[in-house]
Amino acid sequence: MKIEKNYNLSKLNTFGIYANAKFFAEVSTEAELMTLFNSEEFKNNKKIFLGGGSNLLLTRDWPGIVVLNKLKGIEIIREEENVVILRAMGGVVWHDLVEFASERGYWGIENLSLIPGSVGAAPMQNIGAYGAELRNTLVSVEAYEIDTGQKKIFGRDECALRYRDSIFKNALRGKYFISAVTLELKKDGQPNTEYKILQDYLEKNKIIPKSPKDLSDAVAAIRRSKLPDPKVIGNAGSFFKNVFVEQAALEKLKKDYPDISYFEDEGRIKIPAAWLIERAGWKGYRQGNVGVHEKQALVLVNHGGASGREILELAQKIIASVEEKFGLTLQPEVNIV
Ligand SMILES: Cc1cc2nc3c(=O)[nH]c(=O)nc-3n(C[C@H](O)[C@H](O)[C@H](O)COP(=O)(O)OP(=O)(O)OC[C@H]3O[C@@H](n4cnc5c(N)ncnc54)[C@H](O)[C@@H]3O)c2cc1C
Repeated sequence: MKIEKNYNLSKLNTFGIYANAKFFAEVSTEAELMTLFNSEEFKNNKKIFLGGGSNLLLTRDWPGIVVLNKLKGIEIIREEENVVILRAMGGVVWHDLVEFASERGYWGIENLSLIPGSVGAAPMQNIGAYGAELRNTLVSVEAYEIDTGQKKIFGRDECALRYRDSIFKNALRGKYFISAVTLELKKDGQPNTEYKILQDYLEKNKIIPKSPKDLSDAVAAIRRSKLPDPKVIGNAGSFFKNVFVEQAALEKLKKDYPDISYFEDEGRIKIPAAWLIERAGWKGYRQGNVGVHEKQALVLVNHGGASGREILELAQKIIASVEEKFGLTLQPEVNIV
């Protein structure tokens, strides 16, 4: 393991933002991680842990150390009649894990196909898509405490996984390096096709999913057709979280906006941030190098050469305008540093 100096991060974040790290290291084994933890560069500097850089906005050069997680490997820990327990290292590409599972007929994460990034970052925001979330299958998270170098295993309940949120994004932010996750998948599962867009796609294409692979392929096809590819245009997927409101607030909004889009999620009312941003007139907006994607109002884009500051300024303008129009405050989903 080599610690490099003044390292350019532009290829390591999907926004394609040009920023330098004072120090940079890539770790491929847990032993390397321990060596890194004991280095002066690590001990004496602020840290950022990085997987695919697909949920990150770099607004400045990083005056500390950036650690890229390259811990690899997927293993089947236990197999029972109907259940299989998988452990994947944090540096595995998330979609590779989905493929590993779906190709073997293990159900549970196929709806999360093609979410960019690493396994290690998945618990950070309890990744979710097409009617599924990581918390549906997560058993535990292995993580090293930065201050002590001790490994701790967090059971699912200890991770406090909620909508795009976890203990690692809040109370324990920056305090642990996630090294591996363990999932429980089903061998005799059923396709989860409750999500409307997925249902419509299956119906339209006359697909009756018989295996997790069938469903994974369908989700991947929808995602490819809908979401901007960061290789083509810099972005970090949804920039903002959807907004939860009380019933009374919804009733008030309905008076002004009878067509307001909302849905119930575990007994709570959720208003799609994309609807708010679009209705506030931002969809397709462009100013210089930055903008709002023309088809996805939730996705902020770098048209080329944008700085993280410019994207942040656009995000702040959007937050202010949505607040003024609807009285609701958008929260970024993306990690801003
Ligand atoms: C086109 C596109 C579509 C997307 N669609 C979805 C979607 O459908 N659903 C969804 O939930 N997300 C989606 N995302 C967001 C993103 O893919 C996920 O949040 C993903 O889990 C980020 O993984 P990453 O490895 O790229 O994380 P990074 O961006 O590298 O890191 C994200 C955060 O986690 C921290 N972190 C990373 N690795 C570790 C670690 N090992 N230990 C501790 N902290 C760590 C980082 O410091 C940072 O704060 C999308 C992004 C893009 C670009």
